Amino acid sequence: MFEILFLGTSASAPSANRGLSAAIVSHDEYRFLVDCGEGTQRQILRSGAGFKRLTRILLTHGHLDHILGLGGLLSTFLRWEAIDELEIFGGRSALDRVHDLLYGVVLRGKHPPMPLTMHEIKPGVLFEADDFTVTAFSVTHRGPDCLGYIFETKARRPFLADKADKLGVPFGPERRDLVTGKSVTLADGRTIQPDDILGPWQSGTKLVVVGDTGRTDNLIEHCQGADALVIESTYIEEEAEMARQFSHLTAKKAAELAKATGVKKLILTHLSRRYRERDVLAEAQAVFPNSAVARDFDSFQIKRNQE
Ligand SMILES: [Zn+2]
Ligand SMILES: [Zn+2]
Repeated sequence: MFEILFLGTSASAPSANRGLSAAIVSHDEYRFLVDCGEGTQRQILRSGAGFKRLTRILLTHGHLDHILGLGGLLSTFLRWEAIDELEIFGGRSALDRVHDLLYGVVLRGKHPPMPLTMHEIKPGVLFEADDFTVTAFSVTHRGPDCLGYIFETKARRPFLADKADKLGVPFGPERRDLVTGKSVTLADGRTIQPDDILGPWQSGTKLVVVGDTGRTDNLIEHCQGADALVIESTYIEEEAEMARQFSHLTAKKAAELAKATGVKKLILTHLSRRYRERDVLAEAQAVFPNSAVARDFDSFQIKRNQE
């Protein structure tokens, strides 16, 4: 299971009710901050999420509404808050701009107050833990190397306890070995294979997070079958031409992508200040009923095959 907590859901400039792009994706003890628009640190405090273990930051691209909050965040780490380390992942051009902000404006010759690493990433797996991976993929927006992210738990085979009981596999290390794919020999000399007590493969939970994008045709393979797709919806169809011009999506376009890829749930974010939320939602739901529009501090639990 993944959880996504939205900290900022406004496009380009904040509104009275919406901050700039940022969200925390969590899985067990792992937490990833996806984008860090201006004001993100205050949203982190207001949400109650806190800074602890928020050591990994993934950037979708280098536009200011997605990165300016890093300056304030680092400034706070210089004096008021402590964190063990900070790792920032993104495309080359986003990292160049962030480097200027952090080293040119905030630090100006000082050392960062914690180990600070910038990881230039290309499409592919960028993080792997025992039971999940984070994968980056290319997204088309204004400027080079924009990225989207897939959070996915690994496929697994469920342990069939009743079968193990019938075969007389004792509780303890034998069962653990079988689950990890090793065959075991019981006290009476019989050998039990993992296949004897494991069910068929079950795919993992998949959460796809796309930042700003002007195209959806090149996202289809990445979104396929996701349990949730989080994507921008800066415009509505009335201003489809403007969306095209600035390389953004309308709610309808986002919903058509969700429909075409069989995702279970669509969550729209990055809303322009000029629309009412209900108009954005209605446009999306007309195409894809299981759509939601995220508000700041909304949190969604993403489970496998959720309805
Ligand atoms: Zn943006
Ligand atoms: Zn942008």
